[in-house]
Amino acid sequence: MTNISEILGQIKSTSARSVVEAAIKSAKEKSAYHALLSLTEERALIRADKVDAGLIGGKLAGVPFVVKDNFLAFGAPTTAASKMLEKFDAPLQATAVEKLEAEGAICIGKANLDAFAHGGSTENSAYGPTKNAVDMERVAGGSSGGSAVVTALDIVPFALGTDTGGSIRQPASFNGVVGVKPTYGTVSRYGVVAMASSTDTIGVLTNNVTDAEMIMDIMSGKDERDMTTLPDFFKPITLAKPNQKIGLIRDFMAEGVDPEVREAINNYVDKLRADGHIVEEVNLPMVKYSLAIYYIIVPAEISSNLARFDGIRYGLRATGIKTLAELYGQTRDQGFVTENKRRIMIGSYVLSSGFFDAYYLQAQKARTLLVNEFNELFESYDALIGPVAPTVAFKLGENTTDPIKMYLNDIMTVPASLVGLPAISVPVGSSKSGMPIGVQLIGPRRSDAGLLALARSMEAN
Ligand code: GLN
Repeated sequence: MTNISEILGQIKSTSARSVVEAAIKSAKEKSAYHALLSLTEERALIRADKVDAGLIGGKLAGVPFVVKDNFLAFGAPTTAASKMLEKFDAPLQATAVEKLEAEGAICIGKANLDAFAHGGSTENSAYGPTKNAVDMERVAGGSSGGSAVVTALDIVPFALGTDTGGSIRQPASFNGVVGVKPTYGTVSRYGVVAMASSTDTIGVLTNNVTDAEMIMDIMSGKDERDMTTLPDFFKPITLAKPNQKIGLIRDFMAEGVDPEVREAINNYVDKLRADGHIVEEVNLPMVKYSLAIYYIIVPAEISSNLARFDGIRYGLRATGIKTLAELYGQTRDQGFVTENKRRIMIGSYVLSSGFFDAYYLQAQKARTLLVNEFNELFESYDALIGPVAPTVAFKLGENTTDPIKMYLNDIMTVPASLVGLPAISVPVGSSKSGMPIGVQLIGPRRSDAGLLALARSMEAN
């Protein structure tokens, strides 16, 4: 697996152009995975030449990377894997992309996702699914499936993703890479297509923890253009805090969870103990409601955020239309996939005057109870641990006809999202069939660097 320091070494001994060309060649050779929706080849090569000419420098000078196609970035359309934005050329770049470019990194392409990031398998992409990096008959996970696969296939050393309810962590786990969902507000979301504003976060997928720390360090910080961003608190920590107290979330290790997944987590727990950490089982009774809470609040926010796609201001506009109502209706019918429409309908329903109190308000109250439970645990524990998902990557098509089954896969990732906590996914092993399994580490707000240091300290074990 390539890492950033190796790539920097290659750039030094050859050139940025040859490294970027190699990444683009590798992307083309591996196109059967359908991990990328577009390449930004022309712009990438111009930037590579500028690095070689000494006109662009920085910590990542010449290092190729990929962005999920819901980030506004130059060089190719920003589609969000939808027909709505099929031809949408970004007028600006996301702050996260700008910050990486300021350090000399070179975006070579845009990764596939579930349309508008609604999903957990990348099968909701309007352009067809991404295949798992280990087994092409299985899903890549999602919604940042393309970002996970380009990283796992070593096309690039890192890729950006978004995580609203697990979309970085779950595909990272399914493809055997590191995935970081930071504390809510760590990285600016300016220039990223909004899904659910109260849980949307931006993070990274890498082949090792050190690279993730480096990228998070570059991307994090206050942005005047995103009022939810926190002052920069993320600073990589050299040595993990010794003898930590870690809670193993019992509710995530129940019967319904694949025994191979449980075994991999238990092995990791043994290694944590061998390293001097104390691991105890803890209960989070509210997590059993977290899917219900999530699938009320998130669709509500989606229905509001997607209202802007009306055929007038952005992207697609239906043709042959006589009335304004028809223009809205036809455009939205053609531009959204079934899952987008399902969420808009659920969201509009739970926000409607007759049902607001029964659903949306109730869900917000339950969310507060979930927040309180986590806060209480963090009074005694440094971090919490559990699986990322109940199973390894499932077969393509296995869950597509049953949305509830698909949503159930999110059960372990949505709690941290609802509470705004940092949560990372680190590879810990694989099933007998060779499918990767990840462990999830969740910490209190702003403990991101500590969690990563802990994960890094365990990498060699
Ligand atoms: N799978 C979850 C969902 O469908 C998470 C999506 C995300 O984090 N973007 O909502």
